[in-house]
This record gives sequence, structure tokens and C-alpha cells, in this order.
Amino acid sequence: MEHIYEVIIIGASQAGIAMSHQLKQKGIKSLLMIDPQKRIGDSWRSRYKSLVLFTPKSYSALPGLEMQGNPDSYPTKDEMADYLEGYVAHFNLPHKMNTMVTRVEKENNYFNVFTEDERFQSRKIVIASGAFQKPYIPPVIHNENELSHIHSSSYTEPEDLNDGIVLIVGGGNSGAQIAVELSEDREVILAISHKLKFLPLQVFGKSIFYWLEKLQLLYAGTDTIRGKLFQKRNDPIFGKELKQAIKNKKILIKPRVIEVIGNQAFFSDGSTMKIDQIIWATGFIPSCEIIHIDGALDKNGGRPLHHRGISPIEGLYYIGLPWQHSRGSALVCGVGKDAMYIMDKLTR
Ligand SMILES: Cc1cc2nc3c(=O)[nH]c(=O)nc-3n(C[C@H](O)[C@H](O)[C@H](O)COP(=O)(O)OP(=O)(O)OC[C@H]3O[C@@H](n4cnc5c(N)ncnc54)[C@H](O)[C@@H]3O)c2cc1C
Repeated sequence: MEHIYEVIIIGASQAGIAMSHQLKQKGIKSLLMIDPQKRIGDSWRSRYKSLVLFTPKSYSALPGLEMQGNPDSYPTKDEMADYLEGYVAHFNLPHKMNTMVTRVEKENNYFNVFTEDERFQSRKIVIASGAFQKPYIPPVIHNENELSHIHSSSYTEPEDLNDGIVLIVGGGNSGAQIAVELSEDREVILAISHKLKFLPLQVFGKSIFYWLEKLQLLYAGTDTIRGKLFQKRNDPIFGKELKQAIKNKKILIKPRVIEVIGNQAFFSDGSTMKIDQIIWATGFIPSCEIIHIDGALDKNGGRPLHHRGISPIEGLYYIGLPWQHSRGSALVCGVGKDAMYIMDKLTR
């Protein structure tokens, strides 16, 4: 008879790794993480070259293993990737790379996990395939071929772009960092749909994440008033580089883009501009297309139905979803807490 794993975790980046660590600590041995990447950490390695985390090393580690180096310094994306790879080796967490899960089904009291050429079986499943996999581009662009445009997840460095004016759409931290980087040697326009709010990375010599934790905001659950209020606020831009670049007139701020026709962008205040290329820093949409289980996803958007990562389908769990429980849920520093909660429910 085919081997039935106790738990299969789909995705072997920080969320899957945090989950795997908790389960192994609890004594679950029949455990496997499956991931299409070549190496653990590749989801960080593949991000844009200049990416430096906004969380300091002391807030960029998973439970049980600190990041090497000054805890107040900020890790590069490659340091983060290497840390995750080292973490998996340190705790000897079982994983199978170069393998994409294509379909998950439930049959009686176990799950069938299909990859391109294999089938695995498990009693429980944790989906850790990331909320940042499927790029979202708003449907505002016409005559697509007349203009070069990419999503921020495909951006690697300034040299990849053509010369000329670049419009960045989206005022989150990715849009802000890319805008600042490109403003060094070209004209940059940043289109935002909400008022920018800035938070310094350091306050009174301590990381802003230290203060967010002290103020009981970072890990405040969505079932608390504090958590609910925090969730309603748009994420701030961490650091002061963008503010400075706007002040120095290196970046021009425009409101929401409502239409792009050829190389002409139309903004919500009625203004228009000629541009040469666009970077859509407009975020991601959750993608659970691999789940083929009745009652697991909401019928309208295909979003996972869950409470704190626990699906109404027995044996199915999620980890790493934004606001799964708190702001920290989709951050390195918070995912371990959610993993602990899921482990407790899963092993009951
Ligand atoms: C640009 C950017 C900057 C960020 N900066 C910070 C920061 O400074 N600090 C911080 O704490 N957080 C930051 N985050 C947020 C978050 O920590 C990261 O996005 C992190 O990578 C999320 O980890 P994850 O494990 O949930 O998902 P991911 O890292 O996206 O990993 C998901 C994994 O699932 C795998 N997978 C996907 N589909 C399948 C499938 N069908 N079968 C098997 N495996 C699959 C993928 O290959 C991948 O390895 C940032 C995010 C972005 C996008």
C-alpha cells in the first residue's frame, strides 16, 4: 500500500518551514514539504536585486534560530533566503523540491496530492503556497502591445527597463522602494490610490516593529478591537527615502490610474501623461486553484474559507495568509505564532 504521510505541507518557504518546524517539535515524523523551487529560499532570491527587508534581523527570524549578525541591521533578500535554507538544514525538515503540486483532493479521511507525475497521500494538509504568487494588474490597460509594462514581481533591476519615463502604480512598500531606486537616473511617476503614510524604521533607537509589538498591534488578532482597527489602516511606507525623493522632486506623485491607452496614462483627477513604461506594484491575489474540495473555497472569489487558518474541511489548514490572524501573520516574525496555533489544533 502507498505510504500515507501524516501531514503534507504545500510550499517550503517561511510559512511552510515554520509549520514544519512546529510539527516536528511536536513529534510528527511523517511529514513532507513540497515546493517547485530549486532551493529553499528561492522565493526571496527571485525578488528584485536591491530588496532589503523592512524588518530588522531581530524581527526576520523564525522560532528557535536567530539570524546571524547585528540584530538591528536589515537583512538583504539573499540573506533571508540563506537563513531559511540554513533553518531547514539545522532542524532537518523533510522536503521535496522541484515539485509543483497541481491538484489536491479529499477522499474519505485522507488527501490526494497530485504533482505533474506523482501522487502523494496524507491525513492532513497545510497550504503554505503563499499569498504573493499570483500578480494582480488592474484591468485598465488598452492596446497592451503599444507599451512595455511589467508587474513588480518580475522587476529585478533598473538595467532591465527601457530608457524614458516610468510610471509606477501602487503606493505600497514595493512600489516605494522601486520608485526610489529608479529615480536615481530617470523620471519617475508614482500613482497612488490612498494618502501615503510614512513610518520611520527606527524610533528612539529601536525598530518600529519593537514599538508595534510593545503597543500590542503587531500580533493583535482580528478578533480584538485593536486588531480590527489596525487592519483597517493601509500599510505605511517604512523608512524615509520615498518622502525625501518626493521632497527633492525626484518622484512625481499622481492619483489613481483609471485608464492607459497606448502610451497615455489617465489619472483620477482628470490629468493625463505620456509615459514610456509601467511597473504595476499593485499586489497579488490569493490563488487556491490547486484545491479541488467542495466547501473549501468561497464560491465568488475562490478565496480560502477559514478561521485562523482552519478550514471547515477536516484536516485542511492554511498558513501565511495576510491577516490570517494578525498583521504579523504574513511577516517572518509572526508566522511562527500562527504555526504554533495550527499545530495545536492539528494535533488534537
Ligand atoms: C517585495 C516584498 C517584500 C517583503 N518584505 C518583507 C519584510 O521586510 N519582512 C517581512 O517579514 N515580510 C516581508 N514580506 C512579506 C512576506 O514575509 C514574504 O512575502 C514571504 O515570502 C511570505 O512567505 P510565504 O512562505 O508565506 O510565501 P512565499 O515566500 O511566497 O512562498 C510560497 C512557496 O510556496 C511554493 N508554492 C507555490 N505554489 C505551489 C504549488 N502549487 N505547489 C507547491 N509549492 C508551491 C512557492 O514555490 C514558494 O516557495 C515581503 C513581501 C514582498 C512581496
